[in-house]
Amino acid sequence: MNFILDAVMGLFSSDLAIDLGTANTLVWIKGEGIVLNEPSVVAVRTGNRTNNRILAVGREAKNMLGRTPGNIAAICPMGDGVIADFEVAEAMLRHFIRKVHNRRRFVRPRIVVAVPSGITPVEKRAVRVSAESAGAREVFLIEEPMAAAIGADLPFAEPTGNMVIDIGGGTTEVAIISMAAIVCSKSIRVAGNKMDFAIMQYIRRNYNLLIGGSTAEIIKNTIGNAFPGSQSPETIEVKGRDLRKGIPKILSINSEEIRIAISEQIDAIVQTVKTVLEQTPPELAADIVDSGIVLTGGGALLKNMDKLLSEESGLSITITEDPLSTVALGAGKAIDNIEILKQVMIK
Ligand code: ADP
Ligand code: MG
Repeated sequence: MNFILDAVMGLFSSDLAIDLGTANTLVWIKGEGIVLNEPSVVAVRTGNRTNNRILAVGREAKNMLGRTPGNIAAICPMGDGVIADFEVAEAMLRHFIRKVHNRRRFVRPRIVVAVPSGITPVEKRAVRVSAESAGAREVFLIEEPMAAAIGADLPFAEPTGNMVIDIGGGTTEVAIISMAAIVCSKSIRVAGNKMDFAIMQYIRRNYNLLIGGSTAEIIKNTIGNAFPGSQSPETIEVKGRDLRKGIPKILSINSEEIRIAISEQIDAIVQTVKTVLEQTPPELAADIVDSGIVLTGGGALLKNMDKLLSEESGLSITITEDPLSTVALGAGKAIDNIEILKQVMIK
């Protein structure tokens, strides 16, 4: 009887894995893969504490960033790796779970959520509670660098050193993993968002041109480059508002300027990698000399980031197949395999 019940439950229950990133949230479903990939952004009506506070979530909300009138704000509730706004973070998680869940007739799913390493007990609780209130039967948490290692097919459970660098929107996490545990790690609140901000400042200071965060992000993703001395700099047309004349203006910026604009952030990331390497136990460090470092997260797509990290560390760098999905895929593998889940879930 139990056997039949289990079989029936198995047919209808679909386990979910969620990468609750600072910039993007992804949802993976057993048997389907990644079914949702949206910015971790929520648009809220300010000065209004009623139920209708939330206007939009995800892509729709991100399009409002920098374009909202006074009484509407677009919030990134995961801020820089810590949950900046609990209420809004909960609402966002619930929204995404319901969005993928409602289309399917499932019994209450088991959910794995990948969370930043170093998340506080209060934040863990907030994630659990919101996943439960969104209909989860059981909630498991795993740390993002661990999920990244699993997603990258590293031998994370073996007694060998595995090194992961994950450059996201709000945080960069560097971790050494061995025997299904994080041996040493460091997380800094410097990643894609701070690069975007640095580009905005650079263009304002040098050209008196005011641009928005979304424009800065496009510039970074299109012509940004981490490595000095590229032969033929690329250029891009940038539109913004002239600070002196107050009118819209367009100008051309090249990749070498952008490299200089974001060099402080790039240096901070390189320094963090070096710090973690210095703290790595010698046997594991020896393993990493052989196996190299895995680079993931959206920041892995910054041109020549791998080249620079390789040059600075003297180690080989491998970018994961799809850096923006690696954590979600790893979290999916964890919920798909109870043996893995048991080893890596955190309390
Ligand atoms: P998180 O896990 O924190 O949500 P992601 O791994 O989704 O972050 O990465 C998002 C970051 O990656 C953003 O800052 C985005 O601008 C950046 N990014 C995406 N594509 C590129 C690219 N081609 N070059 C540089 N940065 C990129
Ligand atoms: Mg991430």
